[in-house]
Amino acid sequence: MNPSHASSEAVPRLARIIPRDSHPISRSKISRDALRVLYRLRETGFDAYLVGGCVRDLILGLDPKDFDVATNALPEQVKRLFRNCRLVGRRFRLAHVFFGREIIEVATFRASGASLLADESATEEIPGDETDADSVPPGGDEVVDVEDSRDLHDFGESLERVVDQSGRILRDNAYGTIDEDIWRRDFTCNALYYSIADFSVWDFCQGFEDIKARRLRLIGDPETRYREDPVRMLRAARFQAKLGFEIEPATAEPIANLNSLLRGVPPARLFDETLKLFLTGHGAASYRVLLERGLLDELLPNVAAFARKHRGSAPERMLIQGLLNTDERVRTDRPVTPSFLFTLLLYGPIGLAIEKRPQAEWHKVSTILDAVDTAMHEVYARMAVHRRFILSMRDVFALQPRLEAPRGRRALRTLGHPRFRAAFDLLQLRAASGMADKAIAEWWGRLQSASPEQRAFMSEAIARTGSADEGHGSSGGCDRRRRRGERRQERGGGGPSG
Ligand code: ATP
Ligand code: MG
Repeated sequence: MNPSHASSEAVPRLARIIPRDSHPISRSKISRDALRVLYRLRETGFDAYLVGGCVRDLILGLDPKDFDVATNALPEQVKRLFRNCRLVGRRFRLAHVFFGREIIEVATFRASGASLLADESATEEIPGDETDADSVPPGGDEVVDVEDSRDLHDFGESLERVVDQSGRILRDNAYGTIDEDIWRRDFTCNALYYSIADFSVWDFCQGFEDIKARRLRLIGDPETRYREDPVRMLRAARFQAKLGFEIEPATAEPIANLNSLLRGVPPARLFDETLKLFLTGHGAASYRVLLERGLLDELLPNVAAFARKHRGSAPERMLIQGLLNTDERVRTDRPVTPSFLFTLLLYGPIGLAIEKRPQAEWHKVSTILDAVDTAMHEVYARMAVHRRFILSMRDVFALQPRLEAPRGRRALRTLGHPRFRAAFDLLQLRAASGMADKAIAEWWGRLQSASPEQRAFMSEAIARTGSADEGHGSSGGCDRRRRRGERRQERGGGGPSG
């Protein structure tokens, strides 16, 4: 595999410079700590830019999650400028500048791809004028040739790049110029540079136009870029879900054939990406996009297989509702947990594993836990999920039969279980999708807000009558067995009892 990014394309070296009055980025929207880093670098004679998702989000009028800085200062030089700075990363060396809880990531411009090959081989064609013509912007914004600044950044670093057989970059530590730096970016919308020198935005690949058109476009040859780093396929899905951008056809097209490359991605990285997909406020959209693009089949094969076979089933409806609730929690700054996410995602596959056993065993805790372990085992094959999340998930599933059949004073002890809240959330979701008794879920809701005396009364009443509707009407007067039978009918045989 040729590790060049560009195939027939050459590296653009001309930036369209969008002056302050032609873009909407205001310093008042930039974190004070990021501004401090930018100004400090500039005062010391270095170039300093905001780059990546923060520039994209500022242009879109969104609040950036984090602020990244790109500079021509070497990591060691950055470290000398900031006392609160640590160098990190084996794969890519970066400087982290700490301000309380905020970390500003400062990366040195990196040499990469076609330009790197050109440096290495005298026979390789050096990018020519034809790209220069392409990158001249409409509207006559200022155009600069950044080639001139190249020797300023000749740090004499060894050009260190390791690529595996499939074209995946394993290590890349060669420093370069801002125009080369765009090759370590993925999409054009993520490759804009906001200069602290004059507050202009530097655009080497029509990223500004793409943001305005709400379009995701990979820089360079899409297949090569996905082979270099298959996680870019997941990032495409994530930005489609998060920003509502459309993936342009050439960027979308190779995903269907290349998605199996995700199998070669380190499991810890896939876990991190999964959390970014599902726990940052657009989880329901991520689920839809991952399924549409065939990526869920590689990321979480058992979840995808369930979704394909049981479209619109109660467990799938519950998963989508659970993801929507999670998105709402993120929006309102309430905590979300990986263990509850996996509880939702795996509910369908776990139910299927349970239903393979004789029906009389479905509500046994041992059956449920075996099913959780079976489903998790399949997840482990792809991604590293920390053991504490799995233990918590097992508790949430194991508590379900206890919640569904509260028994007197034992119910009060269940309230104090460290996983009660998550287990109750699951019960409510199950009830809302027709997979558990609504009256019982409501009873637990009332129990939590009741006084100690009322709690004692409620737990005794339910032990005596078996009814979750004590004094609240007779509809729940409760033949639980009959209800379970009805619920199974509603699931149409496709869903689990959990
Ligand atoms: P988010 O809103 O999730 O923070 P982001 O675009 O800022 O989105 P980050 O993961 O924070 O994403 O990465 C910062 C920038 O680094 C990206 O905008 C992109 O330019 C570059 N980048 C990150 N990951 C990759 C990758 N796998 N391949 C190429 N470029 C990447
Ligand atoms: Mg970011």
